[in-house]
Amino acid sequence: MTDQNTPVLSTRGLKKTFTIGGSFSRKQVRALGGVDLDIAHGEIVALVGESGSGKSTLARCIARLEQPSDGTFFFEGQDIIATSKRRATREYRSAVQMIFQDPFGSLNPVHRIGHFLERPLRIHGAASGRAAIEQAKRRLMAKVGLPEEMLDRYPHELSGGQRQRIAIARALAVNPRLILADEPTSMLDVSVRIGVLNLMRSLCEEQGISMLYITHDLASARYLADRIVVMFAGEFVEGGDAMELLAHPAHPYTRLLISAVPDPKRIAPFDPVERARLRREVLTPTGCPWAETATEPCSSEEPVFHRLSDTPEHWVRCGRYAPPADAPGTALELPADDEEDAA
Ligand code: ADP
Ligand code: MG
Repeated sequence: MTDQNTPVLSTRGLKKTFTIGGSFSRKQVRALGGVDLDIAHGEIVALVGESGSGKSTLARCIARLEQPSDGTFFFEGQDIIATSKRRATREYRSAVQMIFQDPFGSLNPVHRIGHFLERPLRIHGAASGRAAIEQAKRRLMAKVGLPEEMLDRYPHELSGGQRQRIAIARALAVNPRLILADEPTSMLDVSVRIGVLNLMRSLCEEQGISMLYITHDLASARYLADRIVVMFAGEFVEGGDAMELLAHPAHPYTRLLISAVPDPKRIAPFDPVERARLRREVLTPTGCPWAETATEPCSSEEPVFHRLSDTPEHWVRCGRYAPPADAPGTALELPADDEEDAA
C-alpha cells in the first residue's frame, strides 16, 4: 500500500505518434501531444472530448496496450515505463483494468457468463479452489446487481446493460485500483445508462477504486465525475472540478462542447473533428491545438496556463483567455493585506 497522498496515476509528457500509410506514403499522426494527468485515490476523473481527440489512445497507453512514443507515467509512485520486470507488469495489469465501449465485442459468444469471471479469478489468483471460485463468482454477480442464475447464460442472452455489468464484474474480479472506462455507456440504451453509471460510482466509493471515465457526453461526466479534463487534438485544454468547470467554462472549445445550440452567425458549420485532423496534419506541432490557421499567433505561441481557482480547482490553457472583470483569476495571487492598506 502506498501513501494516500501519492496519486494513483500520474502521467508526465505522455506522447503518442502513429505512423500511417504504406512504405511510400508514410505520415505521422500525433494522437497525444504530451499530457500530464494526475488521478488521486478514489477519485473519478472524466476525460471529455470529441471523437478523434486522443482519449482512447491515452487510456490504451496507460493500460499498456499501446507503447507511448515519449513521456512517462507513474502508478502509485512507480515508474511504469521503466519497469520491464515481468512480475511488476503482471501486477500492474491486474491493478489497472479497462472497460470498453462494446461489451459484446469483449465477451466471446461461445462461453457462458461464468467463464468470463472464472478466468481472471484463476489467473490473478484472487481465489483458488473450486468452492472459493464459485463463491467469488456469486459475490461478483451480487456486486454488479445481477442474479446468480445468469452465470449459466451466454452473452447473447443478456441485454447490453447486463453485458456491461458483466464486463464490470470481470474487471472487479482482480481487485483493481484504477479502472479505465472508455465510453462504457455510449452503446447502451438511454434507459439503462444511468444504472450502469450509478453502479460504477458506488463501486468506486465503496472500494476506493479510482476511475478515468472517458466520454464525449458532458452530462454523464457531470453526473459521475469529481473532476473533468477537456481534451482537444491530443492535448488538455481545460480542467477542474466538474461543477465549477461546467458553470464557468473558460476555453472556447469547452464552451462549444457545452453549447448544444448551433451559432447561426457561423458561415460554415464548425467541425471539431476536421479541425483536429488539420491540427495533426497541417498546423505546426507548436502552439495551441485550437488555432484556426497556421498563420495566427496562437499557432506559434504556446497556450498560456491560467489558474482560475484553487478550490474548487479550475485551470485553462489559452493564449486568449482574459479573466472576467468582476472575478479576476489573478486576484487569487494578491496578498490579502493590500486591501486592508487601501481601506
Ligand atoms: P478518441 O478515442 O478520442 O476518439 P483516438 O485516441 O481513438 O481518439 O484517436 C486519436 C487519433 O489517433 C485519431 O486521429 C486516430 O485516427 C488516430 N489513431 C488512433 N489509433 C491509431 C492507430 N492504431 N493507427 C493510426 N492512427 C491511430
Ligand atoms: Mg475512443
